[in-house]
Amino acid sequence: MGNWAALHSHDHPAAPVRDPDAPTRQLLVVTGGQVQLQRCQLYATHWVPVIEAHHVCPESWWAHLGVPDASPLATVCPNCHMATHVAIDARIKGQDASLLPPRCLRLAAQAFTIAAASGLTPALTL
Ligand SMILES: [Zn+2]
Ligand SMILES: [Zn+2]
Repeated sequence: MGNWAALHSHDHPAAPVRDPDAPTRQLLVVTGGQVQLQRCQLYATHWVPVIEAHHVCPESWWAHLGVPDASPLATVCPNCHMATHVAIDARIKGQDASLLPPRCLRLAAQAFTIAAASGLTPALTL
């Protein structure tokens, strides 16, 4: 496992750059000067240079209620990450998201399960 860092961070594993204001947490792993590929948590065939941390239940929903973020994280490739947020928003908007990857839909559905259990109000994420 590497260090969570912004895309523009330097190859310096001992001193990771963490940008607390970054909208998404991105992980780039460089070992011995070589950029490594990482596997998406949703699909084993998705090998990408940068994976992103996704709050299964979006951070903004917790922030809106003023309670600490108690969401689990998923590490997914950028495409799956975006598809998951599209799926979350589609559900709120009443759109048909059935063409999206099934595992992204499942991950999106978990947001609503956690929200319901935690008293959070789902809101658009994109
Ligand atoms: Zn996310
Ligand atoms: Zn993926």
